[in-house]
Amino acid sequence: MPIEGTASRVLHVDLESGASRVLLFEGRPHHLGGSGLAAALYDAYGLPESPAFDPRQPLIFAIGPLSGFFPLMSKVVCGFRSPYTGEWAESHAGGRLALSLRFAGYDALMITGRARTLSCLVVGSRRLEIHDVHYLRGQDVFTSGKYLRRYGKESSGHRSTVRIGPAGERGVTFACANVDSFRHFGRLGAGAVMGGKNLKALVVTGDSGIELPEGRDYPKLYKEVYQSVTGTDMMQKYHDLGTAENLLVLNELKALPWRNLQATTDPAIDGISGERFAEQLLLRQTACAGCPVGCIHIGLLRQQFARDHEFLYKQVSYDYEPIFAQGSMLGLTNASDVLALLDETEKLGLDCMSAGVALAWVAEAFEKGVVTEKETLGPVHFGNVATFVAALHHLANGTSEFWQALGKGVLYAADIYGGADFACVLGQEMAGYATGEVYFVSQALGFRHSHLDSGGYAYDQSAKDKDVDKAVRHLLDDEYKRLTINCMVACLFARKAYPPERLQEALASLGMRAEADALPESGRAMQALRWSLKFRTGFRPENVRIPKRFTEVVTWKGPMDVDYMDAVRQAYTSELYRMVVDAAREA
Ligand code: SF4
Repeated sequence: MPIEGTASRVLHVDLESGASRVLLFEGRPHHLGGSGLAAALYDAYGLPESPAFDPRQPLIFAIGPLSGFFPLMSKVVCGFRSPYTGEWAESHAGGRLALSLRFAGYDALMITGRARTLSCLVVGSRRLEIHDVHYLRGQDVFTSGKYLRRYGKESSGHRSTVRIGPAGERGVTFACANVDSFRHFGRLGAGAVMGGKNLKALVVTGDSGIELPEGRDYPKLYKEVYQSVTGTDMMQKYHDLGTAENLLVLNELKALPWRNLQATTDPAIDGISGERFAEQLLLRQTACAGCPVGCIHIGLLRQQFARDHEFLYKQVSYDYEPIFAQGSMLGLTNASDVLALLDETEKLGLDCMSAGVALAWVAEAFEKGVVTEKETLGPVHFGNVATFVAALHHLANGTSEFWQALGKGVLYAADIYGGADFACVLGQEMAGYATGEVYFVSQALGFRHSHLDSGGYAYDQSAKDKDVDKAVRHLLDDEYKRLTINCMVACLFARKAYPPERLQEALASLGMRAEADALPESGRAMQALRWSLKFRTGFRPENVRIPKRFTEVVTWKGPMDVDYMDAVRQAYTSELYRMVVDAAREA
C-alpha cells in the first residue's frame, strides 16, 4: 500500500463492542508520526479527566512515515495513560511490530474499551478477529506465546505478537508488554493497561505490501544510509559487545549503581561485565526487523531441572540496563545468575529495570529491618539470586499486601512501610546512570522519566562547569532532537545516521514534501503537545520527589552538589511550564 495524501491511516478497534473502523487522521505534516501521532491521537480521543484504567482510554501503537522504507526505522511508540504515574506516557519497542503494522497498511492502531473475556486481538490489512483466550489466564509469557502462534501463522514472516504475563493481568503498574522474542514496551505499565482491557495479546499480520517510490532519489538515499550504518564503525559497538560494554566504563567512573545505590563502583564488576557475558554466555546477536545492525545480545542459560536431573538450555537477551538493574543493583556478581533472574522476569511480564530496582529497595529495607519476613514472606538478600527469584514471583502475583503495594512502585510502598530515603526512584525506578546532578533531575522531571528523554548522563560526564542555564538548554534541545527521531520512529542508536536534514531528504524521497518542510516546526509543536498532555493528565514537576539517597551519591567528580541540583531542577521546571504556556497562547 503506498503512502498517499497527508492523513495518517489509523485502525481503531473498540474491544467492548467489537466494532472497528479505519480513520484517516488528517494533519501528518503537523503530527508527523510515532510520538507526535500518538500524542495527537490522545489529544483528539483521550480522556484527560479520567483515570488510567478507565477502559475508554486509548492504547495506541504508532509507527512513523519512514517505517518500512529506511534502515533502522524499526521501533513502535506505544502511547497510553500510565497506571504508574497516572499521566500521558510513551514506551518504545522494536521487534517485528513496526514492519508488521506497515505491511498491514496502518500508521497506528488505537484500542479502546475492555473485552468481556480475556482476549487476543488479531489485525491485518483485511482481517480483524477478537478471540476468547480465557484459558491463558495466569499463564506466563512463554507458555502463552506457544498457544498464540496459531494466530496469523499464514503470514508468520511478517507477523508480530505483543503479549502480557501474570503481572500485566494483575495490574502491576510496571508490568511490561513483551514484543515477539526479546523486545518490550517496558516502562510505565503498558502491560497493565493491556491487562485492564482484558487484552492478553495482540497479533499484527503484515499481510499486504508497500509500493516503493519511482525515480532515483529514494534508492540513492537508501544506499547512502545503509552504507553509513554498515560500512563505517558508526554502529559497530552496538553489535560487538553491545551496550553491556558500558558496565566497566561506568563502574570505572564511579557511576554504576550497586546494591540499591549504596555504592557506585565495585571490583566485583568483572563477574558481570559486558566482556564476561561475551566470553562465557554470548550465543548470538539478532536484530529488529529492518535493522542491519543486530545489537540484541542473546546469552545461553544452562539450568538443571533439579539435583541429579538433566539440563535445560534457554536463550535470554541482555543489555546494559537489565544487567545493572538485576545485577549490580542487587549485588549479583555472577553473569549466569543475572541471566537466570532476567529469564524469570521475562516470563512473568515485569519490566526488568523497574522490578530490579524495586527488589534492590526490598533487600536494603530487609537488611535494615524496615520490613521483615512478615511482609516479604521470605528472606531477600543482596547477592542471593534464589531469594530474588522468589521475590519476583511474589511481586508479579501480589501474594501479600506488601507485594501488592510494591506493585504500585517503590515510593508507594515506602510511604506505607518506611524507607523512602533510600528509594531509588526518579519519577519511576531509576535507570543505571549515577552520573550526577543533571541526570538525576533529567530522569525525575523528564517526559518518560527515562535516560532516553535527553542525554543528561552524557552532559554530567562532559560538562566542565556548573552552568544551570546551559544544562537546562541541553536537556530541552536534546529532547527535541530525540523527539524528531521518535516521530519517525527510528532506533535511537541510529541518531547519528539520521540528522534532521537527512530525515527531511528521506521524507521528500517518499513524496512527503510537506512533512519534510514542516519537520523542524512540527517537531517543536509535538514537543509542546506531549508536555501539555503530561500536564493535563496531572504532572506537576514541583511535586516530584528526589529521595535523599541521590544526594548521598559520590561519583568520580566527588559528592553531589545539592544546591546545583536544586537550581537545575527549578530552572528546568520553569522552562517546562513556559513551553506549555507559550504553546497554549499560540494555539
Ligand atoms: S540497533 Fe538494536 S535495538 Fe536498534 S533497531 Fe537494530 S537491533 Fe533493534
